[in-house]
Order: sequence, then structure tokens, then C-alpha cells
Amino acid sequence: MVVGRFAPTPSGRLHLGNLLCAMLAWLSARSGGGRILLRIEDVDTPRCPDRNTRLCLEDLRWFGFSWDGPILRQSERTPEYENALAELQAHGLVYPCFCTRAELHPELAPNLGDTQTVYPGTCRNLTPTEAASKALIRSPALRLRVPDETVSFEDRLQGSVCENLRRDCGDFVIRRSDGLFGYQLACVVDDIASGVTEVVRGRDILSATPRQIYLTGLLGGTTPSYAHIPLLTDAQGRRLAKRDHDLDLTALSRRYTAQDLIGILAFSCGLRDRICPASLEELVPEFDWDRVRRDDIRLPDLTGGMP
Ligand SMILES: [Zn+2]
Repeated sequence: MVVGRFAPTPSGRLHLGNLLCAMLAWLSARSGGGRILLRIEDVDTPRCPDRNTRLCLEDLRWFGFSWDGPILRQSERTPEYENALAELQAHGLVYPCFCTRAELHPELAPNLGDTQTVYPGTCRNLTPTEAASKALIRSPALRLRVPDETVSFEDRLQGSVCENLRRDCGDFVIRRSDGLFGYQLACVVDDIASGVTEVVRGRDILSATPRQIYLTGLLGGTTPSYAHIPLLTDAQGRRLAKRDHDLDLTALSRRYTAQDLIGILAFSCGLRDRICPASLEELVPEFDWDRVRRDDIRLPDLTGGMP
């Protein structure tokens, strides 16, 4: 049976791009007679206050989403992540990294967020004595040692994806120096625990997928199928940004009903040929991955009324 999931990170308000992912994940699972789970990815607790989670749940209810099983919250699953870490450590796959952000990204100003820079392996071969003396000065992040191995998979929308773990990803962080678990580890542990067979999410996560597939194998899980949704843009073709208050849900919900917006998303992504209001349930029998666009998905102009 298909087990899908929608797993938003409540670091801000949901936007239409998140809702499109939720809609496609939900429709894919429901149309296959499967289960669809909701997981709140608030593992980075300082960035994900409870208030955001409440808003996120309210927004999803407003759109008419229903979920199977309990809602998982990553902020409550630290013991599970600790178990997975212990398992990886027992296999000698984890090492402490004492590099500072400035050392890793000298070209970046502080606080620009994570980048895709490949870790050069600076701390990979520290002796236990070297590591112990560095640990007196600074608490380390923990990295997973990756092999010189190529991971490939077939994405339902993006086609063949292939990455060499050593060259394209590098050893990656599974627990941060502040003690919080990394996104990759939390995501994989939860997908395995929930028996997820199908992952539908934004294309921005595509490059993290080979790492997650590798980690899934190490932790004894089965690799799910993947569909990475193209970028959703505004009517001018610009990426949706948090600053576009015209397109945030508070503003949109004043001008449109939930069914208006679902109809607009269904048209924009290719599921329907014209715009007309729809409920999620109505779209279940019509759902077909072959109709979903592979290139950028452009919204109609939503600054006025119903397009
Ligand atoms: Zn390091």
C-alpha cells in the first residue's frame, strides 16, 4: 500500500508552493488507495516556534486536508534520532567536526544559511587525541562519513538523478554543534519509522535525496519512490518569496475560498485544463502524475479576483 507524507517545516507561514506539494502528495496517496501522513519538521526548534505550527495546522484544515494516523512532530522525537546516531556510531561512520561556519564558508557573510558546499573533509582523520583537545575549546558537529559511491534514482518528475556521495555531497552533518539533529537524519529516521513508500516534495530538496537514500540503506530502511515538484512562480515567472504579501495566505484567504485556490493550483500544475473551484476530494479520481508539469509551474495573476 502507498504511504505518502507531507512534511512542512514551520519556519514561517505556509505558502502556495507548500500547498501545491501538500496537494500532490495527498492526491497521489489517496488516488492510489493509500495512506497520507502529516509530519511537522520542527527539528530546528529555535526557527520553528509553536505559533507557526499552529498556523500551519489551521491552514491545512482550511484547505480541507485530512491525515491518517497521529501527526508526528520532530521536536518530540529526539530519542529516536539518538538511537539512529548510536547505530551509525557503532559502525564507525560518524566523526566530530570542529570547523566553524566561517572556516567552512569563508566566502559567505554570517547567517546566510546553509549552502551546498561540499565539505572538504578537514576533520575526517583527526586522531582521538587531537579530537579530545579540540573538544576542550568547542563542541563539535557530528558528520556521517560517506563513501566514494554513486547513488542514482528515478524521480517521477525530474527523471534520472545521479550523484557521487564523496564528490557531490561530502560528509554531511547529522547532529549540529548546538546538539540539534540535522534535517537529513531526522527526515530519514521518520520516513523509515512511518513506513513511508512515496515522497512528494519540492525540487529544492532534490540534491539532498542521494544522501537520504544512502542513510536509509545504512539504517535498514527501504528506499521510497520520489517525486520532486517543480518551482512554483508568480504570474511574472518570479520565485514566490516571503516578502510577497499579496500572495501570503492571510491575504489570499480574504479574496479566495479554499476551493478557489485548489482549483487555481490544479490548473497551474496541469491537472485541469481550466480554472474552476474544486475540493481535494473531487480531484482524487482525476489525479494523474502524467499530467503534472515537469518545468516551472506558473500561477495566474492572483492580485485581483478569481482569474
Ligand atoms: Zn571539520
